[in-house]
Amino acid sequence: MSARKGSQVPVLVLKAGREKSLKRRHPWVFSGAIEKVVGEPQSGDTVLVRTAEGTPLGLAAYSASSQIRGRVWTFDSTATVDAQFLRGRIKAALTLREQLPLGRHTNAMRLVHGESDGLPGLIVDRYADVLVAQLLSAGMERWRDEILDALVDLTRCEAVFERSDAEVRTLEGLPERAGFVRGNSDASRCAISEHGLVFRVDVAAGQKTGFFLDQRANRQRIREISAGRDVLDCFCYTGGFAIASLAGGAREVSAIDSSGTAIAVARENLAANALDPARLLFKEADVFLHLRELRNCGEKFDLIILDPPKFAPTAAQVENASRAYKDINLLALKLLAPGGLLATFSCSGGISPDLFQKIVAGAALDAGGEAKIIERFGPDADHPVALEFPEGDYLKGLLVYRG
Ligand code: SAH
Repeated sequence: MSARKGSQVPVLVLKAGREKSLKRRHPWVFSGAIEKVVGEPQSGDTVLVRTAEGTPLGLAAYSASSQIRGRVWTFDSTATVDAQFLRGRIKAALTLREQLPLGRHTNAMRLVHGESDGLPGLIVDRYADVLVAQLLSAGMERWRDEILDALVDLTRCEAVFERSDAEVRTLEGLPERAGFVRGNSDASRCAISEHGLVFRVDVAAGQKTGFFLDQRANRQRIREISAGRDVLDCFCYTGGFAIASLAGGAREVSAIDSSGTAIAVARENLAANALDPARLLFKEADVFLHLRELRNCGEKFDLIILDPPKFAPTAAQVENASRAYKDINLLALKLLAPGGLLATFSCSGGISPDLFQKIVAGAALDAGGEAKIIERFGPDADHPVALEFPEGDYLKGLLVYRG
């Protein structure tokens, strides 16, 4: 499919003055910014975006049912969006990863990070020789075959598992889909290595694409500060932080998650590493309740990790989410022994780093005593954030020292 200025490409004409964000190269065209649609584009079609005055701004993928009506492929309106174009974008994303020193420490990496890699709505994670792809927008759905072919060709991975089962697909009017779409791995479970530790990833049944690669560097940092500490890992999933902490010489580790399936994999992960299993205890429980039980028992820890799921995916849930973050942070701070550390994270797009810091500050005030930020956390380098796309900067964390 080609889309050239001047041909019969459908056009999104913006309302007067609504081109500002696009001129700053932000890739989303919201429905409220559109004055009219010229032509009859179907979801996934390439459209030309124009100002009210007629200046071309770029080519976008049209999405008929989403509030994000257009996702910009390119700000060069004379370009052609086709298999070659997509292959070029994927190749550029791979080139960035090849330059990262990370490749010496792991065989699992995020290869494509959506808008920040110029591929709106596409996530690709590599777990050893299996790729997991999430196609989350109408534009990606349109070019699905071309993208999958390019991925296999450029990475030489044998199998691609599609996890297009995220809720955002329904906003795009797309059905959920999951399964092997290229090749076939013997099992949908594979083992990855990360800084010398082994983790099993269930690409079919795990959360998101199976593993939280964005926290890799932070797991490593926790490992470095764990020696001799009693550690509590809240929202432990398959044991990432807990196992890293044990590998770093933690005295004892307790790890909590509400998902029995995640804990079962966590126990396998513990067994797969040469560590003393008696020093790590997994517990299936609700963190909100369990922290209260620990408080009532008078328990204390030297290092607590809070890595909850997205409480506020968008701005609409910010208020409730803020309350939830405050609650667990307050409880955790109270459970810290003097000189203890709290590693607290938020992966909510709706909670800015500033707001997150304010919430933690509120929790520290209520907890009483002294608390200081001694480090800040972000996602690892295979999760780049395009400067014009601040929404890509969803993961933030603070390391708080309690005096
Ligand atoms: N720290 C993990 C990722 C955490 S993902 C890592 O590095 O791999 C968030 C986890 O929170 C999920 O495993 C989910 O099952 C769990 N979860 C969600 N709500 C919970 C609750 N109320 N209590 C306990 N666990 C919860």
